[in-house]
Amino acid sequence: MVSSRVNGINESATVSMSNKAAELKEAGKTIYSFGIGEPDFTTPEEIIDYAFKEAKAGKTHYTPSAGIMELRQKIAEKMKRKNGIDATASNVLVTPTKFSLNLALYSLIDPGEEVLLPAPYYVSYPDIIKLNQGKMVTVPTDENYELDFDSLGKYVSPKTRVFMLNNPVNPTGKVYSEKSLRKLSDFIIENNLYLISDEIYEDLVYKGKMFSPGSIEEMKDRTVTLSGFSKSYAMTGWRIGYMVAPVDIIKAANKVQQQTLTCAPSISQYGAMKALENEESVTKMKKEFEKRRNLAVSLLKEINDLSFYEPEGAFYIFPGYSIDRSDDAISLDLLEKQNVIVTPGSPFGAEKHFRISYATSEDVIREGIGRIGKYFNGQQK
Ligand code: PMP
Repeated sequence: MVSSRVNGINESATVSMSNKAAELKEAGKTIYSFGIGEPDFTTPEEIIDYAFKEAKAGKTHYTPSAGIMELRQKIAEKMKRKNGIDATASNVLVTPTKFSLNLALYSLIDPGEEVLLPAPYYVSYPDIIKLNQGKMVTVPTDENYELDFDSLGKYVSPKTRVFMLNNPVNPTGKVYSEKSLRKLSDFIIENNLYLISDEIYEDLVYKGKMFSPGSIEEMKDRTVTLSGFSKSYAMTGWRIGYMVAPVDIIKAANKVQQQTLTCAPSISQYGAMKALENEESVTKMKKEFEKRRNLAVSLLKEINDLSFYEPEGAFYIFPGYSIDRSDDAISLDLLEKQNVIVTPGSPFGAEKHFRISYATSEDVIREGIGRIGKYFNGQQK
């Protein structure tokens, strides 16, 4: 018998879809996938070469649990330079980004304490909150995915400890303005909360500007900023990211890291060190994503039944539709009838929506969205 804590956790929303897709592929069908949330590029060669060189030179051992000191220093410098966050190595813990979400909650909340979460949200947040014995309280957003500051106070109780924010947002592509984030920060300070700011898509902003609330002086002691190398440098498989927070939170999270992961993979830490010197590859991939974004947006606009917020960042679009069919059923239809993979919206907290990841080739975008159009225009229903 597995524990009730784990029994309450869902498997990833994309798992059953990709199992089904694998069956169709085996049967010889070509599948057009907008399912997976990762860059299709290979990690830049110089990052791979450097990590392998270090591995061959014997850097294959445990590292300090919080990360190699030189990497922590480089991350602190990056936080100052790019995010305006005043950090030193002591404020940095190196760990895979999804694990850092767990470490942050593990370190901040006691069982039953509440976490405010704007919907739609990153699909893993509800289960990560549950796994860490917190209680998710969703807060609605308007048609432009803005927070309603007039009603936000309604969701605060004596048990509220954390506001969890993802910016740019997976799945909507929303990028919050500095003005909104300053208002949110005022709310967090007034209610004596902590902010977990998941900025993993920080480099993929096409419109508007990235702003990190951790850069606001009064927020410094109550913000945990998370980011990583997966999306900016096409390094999903390296499992490497980091958390930047006040020293007491880093120390707490490091204790948990010591008793779970021990440390982040040594070879990946060397790769990350090289990545931080490699801004050109970020710019190059971002340009490519932006082209794909523009193409996907223009093609989706031609589909009558769909309406969506034009994404400003990340690599997702989150269309809503009006026909009377659940998002689960629509996603299954698209796979079975059009060989297209999308992710249903409900697990992201928005019914009658689906998520498209455009981190794929322009050919797939053209053909795949064409097929989505055929489905919605009813020609092949
Ligand atoms: N946060 C968000 C919003 C994400 O979309 C993802 C990855 N899909 C993660 C965290 C986890 O990143 P990683 O795979 O690097 O742990």
